[in-house]
Amino acid sequence: MKKKVFPEVFPIESVIATLKQEVAEYKVPIVDLIAAQTKDPLKVLLATILSARTKDEVTAAAAKRLFAQADSLEALEQLSQKELERIIYPVGFFRNKAKYLASLPAVLQQKFDGKIPDTVEELIELPGVGRKTANLVVAVAFNKPAICVDTHVHRIMNLWGYVATKNPLQTEMALREKLPEKHWIQINFLLVAFGQGTCKPRLPHCDRCVLAQDCPQLGVTPRKVPNTDRNTAKNTAKAASSSGKKFISWNVNGLRAALKKGFLDVLHQADADIFAVQEIKAMPDQLPDEVKNIPGYRAYWYPAQKKGYAGVALFTRKEPKEVLYGLGKEEFDREGRVLTLEFDDFYFITAYFPNAQHGLKRLQYKQDFNREILHYMDQLAKQKSVVLCGDLNVAHKEIDLANPKANRKNPGFCPQERAWMDEVINAGYLDTFRLFNQEPEQYTWWSYRFQARAKNIGWRIDYFVVDAASKERVCAAAIHDDVLGSDHCPVSIDFA
Ligand code: SF4
Repeated sequence: MKKKVFPEVFPIESVIATLKQEVAEYKVPIVDLIAAQTKDPLKVLLATILSARTKDEVTAAAAKRLFAQADSLEALEQLSQKELERIIYPVGFFRNKAKYLASLPAVLQQKFDGKIPDTVEELIELPGVGRKTANLVVAVAFNKPAICVDTHVHRIMNLWGYVATKNPLQTEMALREKLPEKHWIQINFLLVAFGQGTCKPRLPHCDRCVLAQDCPQLGVTPRKVPNTDRNTAKNTAKAASSSGKKFISWNVNGLRAALKKGFLDVLHQADADIFAVQEIKAMPDQLPDEVKNIPGYRAYWYPAQKKGYAGVALFTRKEPKEVLYGLGKEEFDREGRVLTLEFDDFYFITAYFPNAQHGLKRLQYKQDFNREILHYMDQLAKQKSVVLCGDLNVAHKEIDLANPKANRKNPGFCPQERAWMDEVINAGYLDTFRLFNQEPEQYTWWSYRFQARAKNIGWRIDYFVVDAASKERVCAAAIHDDVLGSDHCPVSIDFA
């Protein structure tokens, strides 16, 4: 194959011109949107503080709630830290951010006569405002030259080889030297939109990128282009764009509790084709209409007979051909553990596997369930692709939990449970996450005790598993450990 030759000097002018056209159709990043809609430096500052480590949809909803109660510094001053926490939840680090917002009016009054300053040096004197936030406020709220280097700008500038830097501050300084000033204000908007839509942090979509001819892709692992024929290895880019589906699975540990912690924000922001939930701990008639009738989705419920216990549900954009409730075995089905949707070319199963429980008291029940569901998957896989997702309540290998030695005899990691995972893999099924990621410390569940989540002392017990013949249909797999609201976090795959 002919080796690709890249221009010696990265063609920044033509690349930026191309990007402007490309992202015109993309979603506008939230802070730019708020700036365009409000033209209010205070609102831009507040939204920028909220947006750090938070998805745009969550920021947008939190900013809307905040502006409804605080559209001026005086109004903001009236809100206590606790009230602010409640208003802005579930943005990332909401407690710290509430603390910053609570102290902001006094500091602004004291240092800047109650006005939002318009220089980076002054802005970084405010609580919760670092260089990134300050640059964004200067550029977006005041339309003055400033380069906001967030993770997308830092990453993309480096993978282009336009800079060679180790951290965002170095990138900002290098760009101040190198990037023509006329591009400073807009570069953040362009690269955030492009980084969210195409040049994603994990598995960027190089196969359909308008910059593929100019980009040296330094240090990049592009996504695999999927295959629609599950029995051949021949991939096509067309297949990726025309039939790619996003599936999410999340053990919500009680849907009524999760609803109070922003479940619907997470679901809308995920924009999945199928969103599976486990451990709903509720009958549908105990749930509000807002979750039973989500616009754009059909919902299917399979609760346990016992109130407040187990249960699974599925939200799907496309109507399935058929819905299969349970495994046909009363001892498992009364606990609402398995729900299946049948589509033209695949079965989608969500399952909440039993916990073997303290002293392995329920190990036998779990092993019986395991045997039954594997048999069920085998039967379905004879007909078409099988996607199984959910809380399998087992960490397969030592890499899948923080303390393997201490947990060898404990539920979730005992030899019998791990042996069943071996059996699943030996039967030809694939743990999709490990197709893409071999790193340690990738967890989906953390105990509520001992600050386990903050310290990342966790377990990977939530999975997407597919039959071997469907391997090429899996384009990406991820763990979304930034999503709060349960002691588990969501996992996902892109499926062609
Ligand atoms: S070719 Fe790939 S790495 Fe380069 S800009 Fe496009 S998506 Fe990003």
